[in-house]
Amino acid sequence: MKSIQPAFPIVAGVLASLFQPAEAVTPSQWAAANLVVPDGPRAGERIDLAMTPYLVELLDFFSSECPENKAVVRKSAQTGFTLLAIAAIGHSIECEPCRMMVVQPTDSALSEFNREKLQPAIEQTPILARKVVPQTSRSARGSTVYTKRYPGGSLTLAIATSTADLRGKTIKKVIKDEASEYPADLDGQGSPHGMIEARYESFLASGDWKELSISTPTIKGDCWIDDAFDGGDQRFWHVKCPECAEEFVFDYGPSFRFAKEYPHKAHYVAPCCGAVIEPHQKNALVRNGRWIATAPGPGRHRSYHFDALSSPFVPWDKIAERAIQAKDDPARQKTFENLTLGRPYEVRGDSPDHVRLMALREEYPRRRIPPKGLLLVASADVQANAIYVEVVAFGADRQSWVVEALVLDGDTSGPEGGAFAKLNAVYETEWPDSFGGTRRIDAMGVDSGFRANVVYAWVRGRPKTFALKGGDGWSRPAISTPSLVDLDLYGKRIKQGAAVWTVGTFSLKAQLYADLRKPRLAEGALFEPPGACHHGRFLEENYFTQLTSEYLTDEKFKGRTRKVWKERGPNHFLDCRIYNLALVDYLGLSRMTPDEMAQLAKLRGVPEEASEPVAVANADEPVVPVPPPAPRTPMRARRSFPSSFMS
Ligand SMILES: [Zn+2]
Repeated sequence: MKSIQPAFPIVAGVLASLFQPAEAVTPSQWAAANLVVPDGPRAGERIDLAMTPYLVELLDFFSSECPENKAVVRKSAQTGFTLLAIAAIGHSIECEPCRMMVVQPTDSALSEFNREKLQPAIEQTPILARKVVPQTSRSARGSTVYTKRYPGGSLTLAIATSTADLRGKTIKKVIKDEASEYPADLDGQGSPHGMIEARYESFLASGDWKELSISTPTIKGDCWIDDAFDGGDQRFWHVKCPECAEEFVFDYGPSFRFAKEYPHKAHYVAPCCGAVIEPHQKNALVRNGRWIATAPGPGRHRSYHFDALSSPFVPWDKIAERAIQAKDDPARQKTFENLTLGRPYEVRGDSPDHVRLMALREEYPRRRIPPKGLLLVASADVQANAIYVEVVAFGADRQSWVVEALVLDGDTSGPEGGAFAKLNAVYETEWPDSFGGTRRIDAMGVDSGFRANVVYAWVRGRPKTFALKGGDGWSRPAISTPSLVDLDLYGKRIKQGAAVWTVGTFSLKAQLYADLRKPRLAEGALFEPPGACHHGRFLEENYFTQLTSEYLTDEKFKGRTRKVWKERGPNHFLDCRIYNLALVDYLGLSRMTPDEMAQLAKLRGVPEEASEPVAVANADEPVVPVPPPAPRTPMRARRSFPSSFMS
């Protein structure tokens, strides 16, 4: 059709007013007028952007009216940014319909996002409920769980681990959620970020595309969102000092003060004039704040940082409580930095000193469970002609005692004889405890990285054994839901015959090395630190050089730098220890309440006085129960621990 050539300019004006709304509605105006909050304490109510004014600028970025294309948000948990994603999508569906995509790191994250947030928001927001074609529609134009269709476009929900999801039709607007958890490479075909970029390539010329990336950070030096934040103009939410009107950012540092004991009385001391800001003043200051770019420059995309210190959803006392809880536990410190402060966690990369660890060896009997050992686990590392095995007792406060460390010589090409027969003897050993009884191993892990099928076959007939494999990357949980693999031995093939559990080795190594470095009682500390690793005199130098054989280093990978562990020599006993830590995480010892722990001790025949809490010098500090971070991957049987031990 030819374009209309109006006879008079006034006609053009009339035509334009017929086809375009008088004034474009911005996403924040649209959200305030329409969007219903899908979950949380305000579920079912219209969104109140006065509470979260820091979302407005980002929301309006997502409209075509805004000429910029790319924005990244580095944030902590509980800040309302998921709602931002939903509001941005809702506005586009009604006012600027086009093809859109939301990417989540995993299948479970994606279905949770859809089930808990997106779908309820669509159903409860009348205008969206009318626009989005229902899933029940049988025609090809109907929506499915992972594709929402509406007049003028569709929204695809994709997983960052699926090339099939990421490759496909052109899209105009993308939201990448938890972008730091995407794998660095997908099946050797490149980074998911690159694949996503390729999908809006055809809009590059017209400049008519949007990419909004939101994530909590992970590890310093190996964190996508942190790099993307640093590469941008670094906007922080500034508040105005109630005394002198100078602007500053609520930052976790010397200005944030709290008492170590309950009540924490957390407050903030303004860096400008020393004015004391009480918790009840916080939300009002945040409401009147504004974004200021701290690193503006030509070509720099928008980058935002926002964390719990400024969040209206997290009281300052809660932050103080979490800080105290995280103090001696490297895993909790990482969680605190990432999920509360929105900062990447810095892992110390050097190896612990093995000579010092040898000097700290203690006099206790080999092959006997120490008085405070509540759980007994073992792990094995399979080599061509030997199996390395470490047996460790774990007690309260994450403390551990090596009970035995062995090299079992022998052939490992079959599950019956050779070194595997010796491993079976370890598995069946009745270990004497310190009270005249005996106990079997609670769980045994075997590395399946080498001789996989032999390991699967060996593990199959032994109920308390686990085939394990190490997984790279910083966002893996200590141990994740097993995948079922085919078992193939002596020409027999059993479909999905073995369960293989993936161990998040990167974070566990960081945790172990931090624990090994802690000052010990024998070195003048007031008490044994949580996570103290006790080593008997019977352990030889070879054990310690292997335990401390790795260090952290930068590696160039697909144009990005990442942090990886490298070994400087044999590391078999380190692998054994990492697997033992994963098993203890699976058994749930660190998540047990004091009551559950006492019950387990009783079950184990431990006299009451021996199962007293260990950290006596900590007694003056408050014991505030903090729920453990929810595992990213839902775990089967995770909490079934106490009952499984009754057998
Ligand atoms: Zn001031």
